[in-house]
Amino acid sequence: MIPPGQSPERAAIVIGGGGLAGLTLALALRQAAGGRLKVVVCDPAFATPPRPDDRAFALAAGGKRMFEALGVWDRVAPQAEPIRDMVITDSRLNDPVRPVFLTFAGEVDDGEPFASMAPQGALIRALREEAERVGVDMRAVAIKDFVTGPARITITLSDDTLMDAQLLCACDGGPSPIRRMAKIDVVRWSYDQSGIVTTIAHERPHHGRAEEHFLPSGPFATLPLPGNESSIVWSERNENIDALLSLDDEDLLAEIEKRFGLKLGRLTMKARPKAWPLNFQMARRFVAPRVALVGDSAHVIHPIAGQGLNLGLEDIAVLAELIAEQAALGLDLGDIDMLETYERARRTPTVAMAAVTDGLNRLFSNDNPALRALRDFGLGLVDRLPSLKNRFIQEAAASAQSPRLLRGLPL
Ligand SMILES: Cc1cc2nc3c(=O)[nH]c(=O)nc-3n(C[C@H](O)[C@H](O)[C@H](O)COP(=O)(O)OP(=O)(O)OC[C@H]3O[C@@H](n4cnc5c(N)ncnc54)[C@H](O)[C@@H]3O)c2cc1C
Repeated sequence: MIPPGQSPERAAIVIGGGGLAGLTLALALRQAAGGRLKVVVCDPAFATPPRPDDRAFALAAGGKRMFEALGVWDRVAPQAEPIRDMVITDSRLNDPVRPVFLTFAGEVDDGEPFASMAPQGALIRALREEAERVGVDMRAVAIKDFVTGPARITITLSDDTLMDAQLLCACDGGPSPIRRMAKIDVVRWSYDQSGIVTTIAHERPHHGRAEEHFLPSGPFATLPLPGNESSIVWSERNENIDALLSLDDEDLLAEIEKRFGLKLGRLTMKARPKAWPLNFQMARRFVAPRVALVGDSAHVIHPIAGQGLNLGLEDIAVLAELIAEQAALGLDLGDIDMLETYERARRTPTVAMAAVTDGLNRLFSNDNPALRALRDFGLGLVDRLPSLKNRFIQEAAASAQSPRLLRGLPL
């Protein structure tokens, strides 16, 4: 309900959520109309500096190019590390050897690595700084409610300010209060696993190599960071999480060594690990009248292939390009036909990636001998077919049909 007598502030677009998706979208939208669009981002988290968070994300080449086009990559690059090579094994925890049966020596066309590791804190800081520099209006408040009218959407913020906009973008993460307010249902299930994340240091260099060991209780991935350090994303069954996280540093490190091995020398843990519960979640619609879901508010997938944020960046590249076209023609930025074009463009690739990651996790996170034989055959086959492997690598990059930002071109 809009309180009588209060006249709303006006904005072109309001974004609810200022995490990686919300801030990236805000920068893309400011660029889309040469800085003329009033873009407001609301997030109570703006009240505090970025939380210390040891997560680092594998960004596909297209995502890195997008951050270059938006003018933030230079600030992130010193803390980022290219992934040059990826090795996948499938074994039990106590197997004496882990035969390698899938390798990606990964470069996209012009010698560019197919992915880079970038710390979440560095990305958020760079995005916040750039958003401030280009005049994004950032407010430390939540989206509390909204009412959709024929020509505008009127949004109530948690400080009771009213904002009138053409479009509200939900970048408010998996729980997405905005998605619930828009009455969009989700399909959801728990993986009964959590992702344990920490950073380790090792004595010898990793040479840009990422490894993923498919173990019966979930994949254990090590991803290269600058210097002799790697990020760990360790998926474990929920029933084991409390016991693992309550181990002292020495015993926990012994568990990590059991999975990582000592090939890079002795390991040191840089921070106490944290765990994130892992779920599958897909919104039944990505749009409602004058509302677009972007990033985790639309889809949450298993981190087995490090693609959750990458999907969100693809959403942003598509939506920002459509909005740029509307803005150039002076058309409604919340037009339902435009929103449905966005939904059509994003639905199939998102569901496909969600199905692949869900299937991989089901296929590998168990010790069934028949499935073990089947998956070993399947991955061995992929490794022997260079053209198929190249397709996987090219998919991590962007093609001539990709939206401009994913090709590193400004809007
Ligand atoms: C263990 C793990 C490892 C992962 N590794 C990778 C990887 O290597 N590569 C990759 O691509 N992806 C990875 N992901 C996925 C990635 O973390 C997410 O896809 C990404 O962080 C989602 O960003 P977001 O901005 O959409 O949502 P969030 O980061 O959840 O941000 C949502 C924001 O909305 C705000 N908010 C909430 N409610 C409101 C409201 N009512 N009003 C205003 N603001 C609100 C919150 O304060 C928050 O800042 C991983 C995920 C996990 C769990």
